[in-house]
Amino acid sequence: MRRSVATVSMSGTLRQKLEAIAAARFDAIELFENDFINFNGSARELRSMAADLGLGIDLYQPFRDFEGMPDDAFGKSLDRAERKFDLMEALGAPLMLVCSNTSPLAVDDAARSAAQLHVLAERAARRNLRVGYEALAWGRFVKRFGQAWNIVEGAGHPHLGLVLDSFHTLSLNDDPSGIAAIPGERIFFLQMADAPLLAMDVLQWARHHRNFPGQGQFDLENFFLQVLLSGYAGPLSLEIFNDQFRETPNRRTAVDAMRSLLFLESRVRRRLELARDGADTGPARAVAKRTLQRVELFDPPEAATLDGFAFLEFGADEAAARKLGALLEQFGFLRLGRHRSKAVTLYRQGSIQLVVNSEASSPARARFDTQGPSVCAFGLATPDPMQAANRASALLSARHESPRGPDQLQLPAIVAPGGTIVHFVPSAGGASLDADFVAEPGAGNSTPDAGLETIDHIALGLAQDQFDTWTLFGRAVLGLERGESLELADPFGLIRSSGFANPERSVRLVLNVSLSQRTRTARQVSATGRAGGGVQHIALGTRDIFATMKRLRENGVRFVPISANYYDDLLARLDLGEDRVRQMQALDILYDRSAGGEYLHAYAEPFADRFFFEIVQRSAYDAYGAVNAPARMAAQEQNATASS
Ligand code: MG
Ligand code: MG
Repeated sequence: MRRSVATVSMSGTLRQKLEAIAAARFDAIELFENDFINFNGSARELRSMAADLGLGIDLYQPFRDFEGMPDDAFGKSLDRAERKFDLMEALGAPLMLVCSNTSPLAVDDAARSAAQLHVLAERAARRNLRVGYEALAWGRFVKRFGQAWNIVEGAGHPHLGLVLDSFHTLSLNDDPSGIAAIPGERIFFLQMADAPLLAMDVLQWARHHRNFPGQGQFDLENFFLQVLLSGYAGPLSLEIFNDQFRETPNRRTAVDAMRSLLFLESRVRRRLELARDGADTGPARAVAKRTLQRVELFDPPEAATLDGFAFLEFGADEAAARKLGALLEQFGFLRLGRHRSKAVTLYRQGSIQLVVNSEASSPARARFDTQGPSVCAFGLATPDPMQAANRASALLSARHESPRGPDQLQLPAIVAPGGTIVHFVPSAGGASLDADFVAEPGAGNSTPDAGLETIDHIALGLAQDQFDTWTLFGRAVLGLERGESLELADPFGLIRSSGFANPERSVRLVLNVSLSQRTRTARQVSATGRAGGGVQHIALGTRDIFATMKRLRENGVRFVPISANYYDDLLARLDLGEDRVRQMQALDILYDRSAGGEYLHAYAEPFADRFFFEIVQRSAYDAYGAVNAPARMAAQEQNATASS
């Protein structure tokens, strides 16, 4: 399918937008009228600029308040349309988008609208142009695609067709299944937009909060499937009005845009293949087969199964490496040894491997130099590292090649948003890094094991403009599923928090975004500069949090003290028993429960004000104790104030 994106979706000047769109290998653009009006060049200059970049101008949009008008206003609108047709000829744009009328002058008369659109289509036909009619969710009388289709059908002109936009249908909770019955050749253009589910005025929602497919919460796969079942074969375009995208570097936005289409195509392709092969849901086998033959949908390698975090790697200098190493030993980690050829140390406890890298001129060290100590890379265990890396490449992640000595592990790696490196580690053999490390003299336990067994989750603090990028990366590249999204109160502002996990729940990521500049999350994010955030906390899993916490305290680990009032409230809210609650209180353990599940957790004091460890005991519980995050954030602030 021909892939396109609207210029309104990108930041920058029109030239910069086109360059970013071309670099992401789109075939075409939708030219948003205001972008042209404010362009310091002629239509012919824009046409040749686009052509030089290999981009078609597939759609000129929008043409407003045209149909269903009283006769005198209609005459003026026709003159206006002729001027725009002149412009489209100069641009080489074959299709004009007419969106449903929002004018107070409009009348509720579908026959009048059809007749007027027929006249417009006839004028367009004289110049070999076409007109597509789109129902705006906030149109005065025409809000739904079914109404727009009735008018298009009533007009009965071959140069008039329908434009579909997923936002307008799904924001009204309209059923897209009727689209499949529309003849595909009468659909002239398809615009896809996702959005978070928000209870707000639909116009405000549409103008400020749309995002790319896979970044929001609409069922875009079903919408796209219905459009394909109609017989439609393209273009597939994106029209995204989003406040963040207007300020995000447009190269990243363009890559996100293309990734979102590739991901959407691949998901719908899978559904069609299942239907073709006889799965009992979806369209009939013959229909699915015909559809797959008619359109070429992107087909990347499947997301590889993930078997947990294989390791986390911290960037440091020598001094920070010593301090962090001492802290890890307090946490009960065993210092296993040094890398064969680099200033890198491996620590292990249970199946957790932590790597501290202070090698001069390494990416890890470069990250330390700009951001202080931080997680610069992590490994994901998978039975098929090459498949995982090949999927990532297919979905536009850059590969990362690290220099490697003889006999060292070759792990395929990719670059995550913001520059964190993700390695794929073979899960056979427990994803062990031992081969690259040799025991050093003096390595070994200085403190006893604390019963920590797994990396339960890692939480990233992100700049606002990184959230949608990470959401799509997690879902499309890593194959994670999105859990619930919450807003949490920090003492200095709100934090939006969303969980992502693989289907087996062995890899969990939490994405935190501060909606205020003053929260701890915001301060940590701003310390990461252009990376736009990084790992904020690392949750380590234990089967017995009481035993683990006692051991860690004996080892000298300091935890964030939780208010006594929290435990009184816990007793009042839940039937937990006084003894158990007082045991939690003695160890600063927080508590949450779900139907049948429990989550006990505690937070250590931060390391160098950059990241902190959380201790977690999870049973049949699928979230992250977000209800307790305000207690933690208040305690961290009060603790920091007390100790400064
Ligand atoms: Mg639209
Ligand atoms: Mg957590």
